[in-house]
Amino acid sequence: YLASQGHKEVSIYQVGDFTDLCAGPHVERSSECAHFKLLSVAGAFWRGDPKNPQLQRLYGTVWPTQEKLEEFLEIRERAKKNDHRKLGVELELLHFEPSLAPGIPFWLPKGTILYHILAEKMRKLLYSNGYVEVKTPQLFRKELWETSGHWKHFKENMFNLEQEDGEILSLKPMNCPSHMVLFKSRRRSYRELPLRIHDQGVLFRNEPSGTLGGLTRVRQFSQDDAHIFVAEDLMEEEISNLLALVKRVYQGFNMKLHIELSTKPQKAMGAAELWEKAESSLTKALEKSAMEFKVSPGEGAFYGPKIDFMVEDSLKRKHQCATVQLDFQLPRNFELYFTNAQNRPEIPVVIHRAIYGSFERFIGVLIEHFGGHFPLWLAPVQCRVIPVSKKFNDYGQKVVDLLLKEGLRGEGDFSNERCGAKIRNAELQKIPYMVIVGGREKESNTVSLRSYEKGEEGVLSLDQFMERIKKESSFEF
Ligand SMILES: [Zn+2]
Repeated sequence: YLASQGHKEVSIYQVGDFTDLCAGPHVERSSECAHFKLLSVAGAFWRGDPKNPQLQRLYGTVWPTQEKLEEFLEIRERAKKNDHRKLGVELELLHFEPSLAPGIPFWLPKGTILYHILAEKMRKLLYSNGYVEVKTPQLFRKELWETSGHWKHFKENMFNLEQEDGEILSLKPMNCPSHMVLFKSRRRSYRELPLRIHDQGVLFRNEPSGTLGGLTRVRQFSQDDAHIFVAEDLMEEEISNLLALVKRVYQGFNMKLHIELSTKPQKAMGAAELWEKAESSLTKALEKSAMEFKVSPGEGAFYGPKIDFMVEDSLKRKHQCATVQLDFQLPRNFELYFTNAQNRPEIPVVIHRAIYGSFERFIGVLIEHFGGHFPLWLAPVQCRVIPVSKKFNDYGQKVVDLLLKEGLRGEGDFSNERCGAKIRNAELQKIPYMVIVGGREKESNTVSLRSYEKGEEGVLSLDQFMERIKKESSFEF
């Protein structure tokens, strides 16, 4: 069982005559725990059987210093409050209906906007870096998955639909095979490589129902996926460019990256020479990028070495998002080749790469990282206009129209609530800017600006305000 969970060692701790199969560490006596806090108490039956006597379990945490303990508790509290399953619903981004669509979220209007902004920013970045985008079929006949190897290794995770005539069509769990088909659809020359194919297509994976929860594990998702077909000679340069892209994107979110290079495992396919070349390309590119990285020997996939990027959020948790994987196998399964400069057929290397990873998971991470207070360029609503009474709704609407006309995301609160309540509601929604309008503002064509971060910011002319919010919202990776 432990081996199936990825554990390579088993540890046993003993204190007095008490022996415990445990990851440890153990201490001899509680007085060794100076800075601690009890977190919860729970009853449990010995071996989970209610006929057995009940045990009391005390859960606690202990730290080397009081500060470390307090920091842990503060982050723990914040993590609970920022949990995307709770916050995503409160901020009207998401809706879950597990009895009807287990493991698949509904994206509400604000969540959909957030999704599209991320998708568009990524498109723009990739287009300007020589990528092309495609859309590929959602359903494929079984033959494709047999060629790719998914039928053998991944069938249980796929949704396979049997037709009346017995034919099986499967919803795609990955884009890779269809990009191989595209590469093969005509003759390819070295002149068009590296060929970088981007695809944000919808993917389906049949995750076991016990593992589903929020956006972390879902059955339907899309990725900022791409496959790069490259000649062996150009691998290093391509990987260098990729590293720069990943770095650029995560700087944009103010997130730290932890990088891991996984090398040739025991069971590997492909010539030793090719592995050496690929690993040295990855290593050289990492060294050149001056990014710190750790090597995990033998942890690569059987079809090629890879770089995993763990993203550290504001709660100091690490999430696996970006990945760069070299693949020597798939181009062989599909018998891909291009004509090289010597006019000979050559097999390309395929790089599977994603920067956000899945949009769903990444948005879950972002909600928690920002605690729902998104930067202006990403906020689903950038500005809420609040008339002090319904007498000024017409002027309020004028300001909203102006924002919309400029392509900004504004909305008005024309409810009958008092002004203070409207401000509080906007703050609960973590909207970056509020503008309050009444008689004085209407007469002088101005707004009273309030920001989520700084509170009251004073009166600005409409022009000044528009210019400021436009300038502050502009963002590219
Ligand atoms: Zn892939």
